[in-house]
Parts: sequence; structure tokens; C-alpha cells
Amino acid sequence: MKNLKAETVQEKADRLRKNHRVIVVGHEKVLVIGESDTYLVQKQGINWTCDCKWGRYQGHLRDCSHVVAAKQARKDPLGQATVARLADWLMEAKVG
Ligand SMILES: [Zn+2]
Repeated sequence: MKNLKAETVQEKADRLRKNHRVIVVGHEKVLVIGESDTYLVQKQGINWTCDCKWGRYQGHLRDCSHVVAAKQARKDPLGQATVARLADWLMEAKVG
């Protein structure tokens, strides 16, 4: 049976995390490598922001998949460990 239903935000967030595309770079900062760009997800106070199109204009209505993925990644120490090295490299790459 074909599944014609569009992928939900939660499903997309799960897929991003399974593919190691969610990179925790700090307590309140997460990079998410999306399909066409890399997005910066940040915690500001009690809210999370994302610089994707949805996040900038509709983020106050509902979390985008990047924010959902980022929140989950922060609760998952295993996921953070696997990307810790990558985060280090990214930080170093920014130098200069
Ligand atoms: Zn987003």
C-alpha cells in the first residue's frame, strides 16, 4: 500500500536526526543541515528560533522541523557525542 500522506514535521525531524544532520554546537545553539541549506536553531529565553523561511515568518505559530529536531537532539546525549567532533571542526574552520 502506498503512503501518499505528506511527511509530518515530527517525521521530518526524526529523519534529520537519523541522518546525523542535527549538530549540537552549544547549549542553546544547534545547526541543522536541511535539504537546500543549513539552518541555525537557537534558544532565546523560553523560545526557539530558526532562520529557515518557516521559522522566520511562521515560527511563532508552530515549530519547524529543525526546531523539533534540535530540541530532541539536546535531550539525547548519544546524539550529541556523535557530532561533538564535527562541531569542534566547524568551530575551528571558522577561525580566521
Ligand atoms: Zn527551521
